Amino acid sequence: MVEHLIDKLNKEKELSFEQWTEIFEKYDKDDAKYAADIAREISVKIFGKKIYIRGIVEFSNVCRNDCYYCGIRCSNKNVNRYILSPEQILECCNEGYETGFRTFVLQSGEGAYSVAKLCDLVKRIKADFSDCAVTLSVGELEYDDYAALKEAGADRYLLRHETADKEHYEKLHPDFMSFEHRMKCLQELKDLGYQTGAGIMVGSPYQTNESLAKDMLFFCDFKPHMIGIGPFLPHKDTPFKDMQKGSYELTLFILSLCRIALPNVLLPATTALGTIHPLGREQGVLSGANVIMPNMSPGQVRKEYMLYDNKICVDDNTSQCGNCLQMRLNKIGYEIEVTRGDYHD
Ligand code: SAM
Repeated sequence: MVEHLIDKLNKEKELSFEQWTEIFEKYDKDDAKYAADIAREISVKIFGKKIYIRGIVEFSNVCRNDCYYCGIRCSNKNVNRYILSPEQILECCNEGYETGFRTFVLQSGEGAYSVAKLCDLVKRIKADFSDCAVTLSVGELEYDDYAALKEAGADRYLLRHETADKEHYEKLHPDFMSFEHRMKCLQELKDLGYQTGAGIMVGSPYQTNESLAKDMLFFCDFKPHMIGIGPFLPHKDTPFKDMQKGSYELTLFILSLCRIALPNVLLPATTALGTIHPLGREQGVLSGANVIMPNMSPGQVRKEYMLYDNKICVDDNTSQCGNCLQMRLNKIGYEIEVTRGDYHD
């Protein structure tokens, strides 16, 4: 039983490395329920039973990186690579706006669009949809690039750190990728005034209770505005194809711990959580999440953005995703909030 540590976290908003490790070593089902009840109560107090939605456009699966876990890594020759044009992306935003999205998340592999082209795109979206936020998720860039994109109007940036444990990071990525650079990027994004998102895959290969403890210490110290947490799910064409998927229950528990540690954080119930369990996103909400990010990509490319096997919603379109989500949330007593849903302290 680790209820006393969950209470301590709730009160003091921090724990030591040893205490975090103990939580992950010793927690049981009752602890997870205990944490979920507290996390849900915090979330409802701050956000009500309202869920922010963000429409995600996966605008390219071209990637120069080679992360061992990821289905669109550059070494995977079985991917049909695509790059959507700015006009196609704007069309997705139009459709998304009609469906009720007031945040557009532009995600891709690394290096798919030049920074200049991305800046142009951000400016066009902000001109056409002045009441909407733009979130970028295009990986590691240099400070000047992040500054230019901020200047162009981007509001938020998602860059999962993947793990706060350098040794673990090196087991997930090839030598040319660096833990230090990833962390430097996150700091720069925050310094530039982006609402900044970090995050991890729960159960990624070689993850330990100690590495999870380091992730929680990192969250408590860095205080990201957004935290993306989903289970690791294997992809058949990657070096990790035979690795075990992450635990559904542990993912929910970590969502609850994040909500308790950082009450105002924007916390999505991710697509990976919806993939590992048919009611994963609903349970994510009931465990403290307050954001859902449905897919807004055009139908013909959805199947090509396969980060992991069996990803959900690849056969639906934007308005179907909107309706389905509304129904799912209503069933658990929640509803969609049609606003930008910015971070507030
Ligand atoms: N290229 C950008 C980046 O790296 O930040 C954005 C796209 S990247 C594919 C988005 C996220 O997908 C990664 O941060 C990673 O955590 C997640 N992801 C990739 N492969 C995954 C897998 N097999 N299982 C679960 N999540 C995965």
